[in-house]
Amino acid sequence: MDSQCLFCRIVAGEIPADVVLETASTLAFRDISPQAPVHVLVVPKAHHRDLRALAEADSALAAELLEALGAVAALENLDHYRIVFNTGTEAGQSVFHVHGHVLGGRPLGWPPG
Ligand code: AMP
Repeated sequence: MDSQCLFCRIVAGEIPADVVLETASTLAFRDISPQAPVHVLVVPKAHHRDLRALAEADSALAAELLEALGAVAALENLDHYRIVFNTGTEAGQSVFHVHGHVLGGRPLGWPPG
């Protein structure tokens, strides 16, 4: 755990979150500033800064994260949804603990702005 990391602190229960799914290795909780009717973040409990770092360090955990993302979409009854991994500041990443956004519940334009 990185005590400076917001999502590590949520995983540790130090900061409250609206949890929708917990597995042995992942946690899913609602985004505090939702961009769609359904906006859930899914994180591995272990700290990795982004998707590439996670995939390089622990590909089994990366697969578990994908599985949890799909499970959240199913739990939220989404047939049409988008999974987003912002990576790097210029792509909009603001929390450097890898997380997938599950967005749905409204039509989602493409390409994104
Ligand atoms: P990103 O910009 O891709 O790094 O996504 C970070 C996301 O974390 C943003 O969509 C924020 O709204 C969200 N966020 C920030 N703080 C919290 C929090 N305490 N609980 C839930 N979501 C948060």
